[in-house]
Amino acid sequence: MQHIIDRFISYVIIDTESDANSENTPSTNKQWNLANKLVEELKAIGMDDVSIDDKAYIMATLPSNVDHEVPTIGFVSHFDTSPDFCGASVKPQIIPNYDGKDIILNAEKNIVLSPNYFKDLLLYKGQTLITTDGTTLLGADDKAGITEIVTAMEYLIKNPEIKHGKIRIGFTPDEEIGRGAHHFDVEKFGADWAYTMDGSQVGELEYENFNAASAKITFKGKSVHPGYAIGKMINSMLIANAFINKLPQEETPEKTKGYEGFFHVHHLKGSIEETVLELIIRDHNKKKFEKRKELIEKITKKINKKFEKQFGENIVVTEIKDQYYNMKEKVLPVKHIVDIAEKAMKEIGIKPLIKPIRGGTDGSQLSYKGLPCPNIFAGGHNFHGKYEYVPVESMQKAVNVIVKIAELTTKEIPVKN
Ligand SMILES: [Zn+2]
Repeated sequence: MQHIIDRFISYVIIDTESDANSENTPSTNKQWNLANKLVEELKAIGMDDVSIDDKAYIMATLPSNVDHEVPTIGFVSHFDTSPDFCGASVKPQIIPNYDGKDIILNAEKNIVLSPNYFKDLLLYKGQTLITTDGTTLLGADDKAGITEIVTAMEYLIKNPEIKHGKIRIGFTPDEEIGRGAHHFDVEKFGADWAYTMDGSQVGELEYENFNAASAKITFKGKSVHPGYAIGKMINSMLIANAFINKLPQEETPEKTKGYEGFFHVHHLKGSIEETVLELIIRDHNKKKFEKRKELIEKITKKINKKFEKQFGENIVVTEIKDQYYNMKEKVLPVKHIVDIAEKAMKEIGIKPLIKPIRGGTDGSQLSYKGLPCPNIFAGGHNFHGKYEYVPVESMQKAVNVIVKIAELTTKEIPVKN
């Protein structure tokens, strides 16, 4: 286990925070620091065809060691960390044999990781946890995934008696700003299917995610001295408020779970003359997703009609953009790729937790680019903040799942026609 700890720590101490405000790929230059190190490491453990392109996408191959034809599978993870919280100067702390009590992350600042609040901690009593020092995120999302893939490949190379087909691995920048799959060359990758190692708790296996759209709604107004405003002033902030009130009040992120979709108002800024409202629309169900977008258009029309005479032109302008779609549509026709992961977990004593993702993954975009790509646990918890932690045992279990999937692919799955 020390080997996994050392490898993981060697990754998280390198700052790879991505930046949504940058147009470049990778969005931050510092991501090259880890990318270049990973390339060297993949060569050192004996991977073939190790490549890195001008956008820092890394690919490598582990050749098949069986005589018969076997599908090519892939494992994917991302090496950037979320810009939501500081990712520089990460100082990981190792808590061996966790006793189930509060963990003082930072005595000076009184930052405590407590099972009273984060109940999942109790799943890991007796295990070795890696935490932050309370001032940064950890970066288990998704350097745990990278650690697991590299460790699994190394294990397969060192244990050639374990039979597997051709395996491709892919590491991407900028997943946290939604661009990890954008420049991923699916053709060059050349796998029949792949798995992102980017989930949380042990056992997670996900092949359904949201359909997602964003809406930018601009409200116009007319400013007039308030003392003389009767019949003249139009306050765009009040119209925006009316718009928000017409959305289903129970369908927000904080009031929904499972397969329930929502509208999420995440930005509102205005003055009398102009107010801009930004919201996102999420639903697993394609029909309901379309209905939600229609509702936005309907409310827009209604308000425009109401102000038609007084304002002369459309007082509300709505732009809706689709962001990503539910990968289920692309994965169900090749459901065996989920079944094989489920079987791999069961064979090594892990209870699969199959549930819909309330978000998207790189896998959803990759699935629509022609690489069906469910998501598997990487083991970390409380991503994107100072309470992030990962049990080393969970990372080891993810390594075992990768190895078992590789093994099962040689016997379970028919080669594509
Ligand atoms: Zn991630």
